[in-house]
Amino acid sequence: MSESPVGAVPATQVPRYAGKGTFARIADIHEVTDYDIAVVGLPFDGGTSYRPGARFGPMAVRQAARTLRPGFHVEFGVAPLEQVQIVDAGDITITPFDIPEACTQIERGMREIIGDRARKFVAIGGDHTVALPNLRALHAFHGPMALVHFDAHLDTWDTYFNAPVTHGTPFRRAFEEGLLIEDHSIHVGIRGPIYDRMDLEDDARMGFKIIRAGDLDVMGVEAAVDVVARRVDDLPVYLSIDIDVLDPAFAPGTGTPESGGLTSRELLRMLRQLNGINVVGADVVEVAPAYDHAEITSIAAATVVFDLLSLIVANG
Ligand code: MN
Ligand code: MN
Repeated sequence: MSESPVGAVPATQVPRYAGKGTFARIADIHEVTDYDIAVVGLPFDGGTSYRPGARFGPMAVRQAARTLRPGFHVEFGVAPLEQVQIVDAGDITITPFDIPEACTQIERGMREIIGDRARKFVAIGGDHTVALPNLRALHAFHGPMALVHFDAHLDTWDTYFNAPVTHGTPFRRAFEEGLLIEDHSIHVGIRGPIYDRMDLEDDARMGFKIIRAGDLDVMGVEAAVDVVARRVDDLPVYLSIDIDVLDPAFAPGTGTPESGGLTSRELLRMLRQLNGINVVGADVVEVAPAYDHAEITSIAAATVVFDLLSLIVANG
């Protein structure tokens, strides 16, 4: 960027609970001529299988992000808003009534953001269905990517009530469409029972590796980070974070809660130690604020979004 970036509303002049409603009160997309990274809301939950409500996620995460101090990220050692132009691109308009049409709208919107110079983004969901059109849009520019996927669930199921595109299937569809580089993708935080043991065999056949939530107790966070980093090497990475990777104690406001998950401290520690990977796009999905209490889930999600922005800037 040639001009100096437009930063956030200064908290010393306007209290953080007031002022504009963009993510962490950063610049709105209309305030700048160009940008490097966009925060984008994807309010869609038509692919949800259990509790609906993630369509309200972007609004809740932006509200919770008021509490952030985006000036300096201590662990990444970056002042993200000073180093590059980060904007809030608002929400993409998505139909609530038609999943394929919703995917088309999301892909079109994300392609516009990526543009002709590979702008990066952190998308706020929405249910996990949105990862598929995000990957399609990124693939058009970057080609196949490595996937780092934090989730309680595999999301590589085939169909549910005959529907091929739901929040439980994005990564199987992505694999079938050639959007992922085989044997360079990994799930972290998987736990709980599954429909059938074949689910795990299918997942392995598609070249995914798994670090289960319980594995972290045995191997420790450091070793897990090492496995993830070696898995993706210096390939372009799509980093997808289903907030249900956190234990319901740390993220009750989500559609498909699963006991025995990560603490928010564990997740943040992993992200901070993953410094060095080449993230070209990311999402934080499945925040469903109607089931939240005292903004527990949306504060965790807002913090994760800011960490992802900082990770991208630190490696830009
Ligand atoms: Mn999940
Ligand atoms: Mn998921």
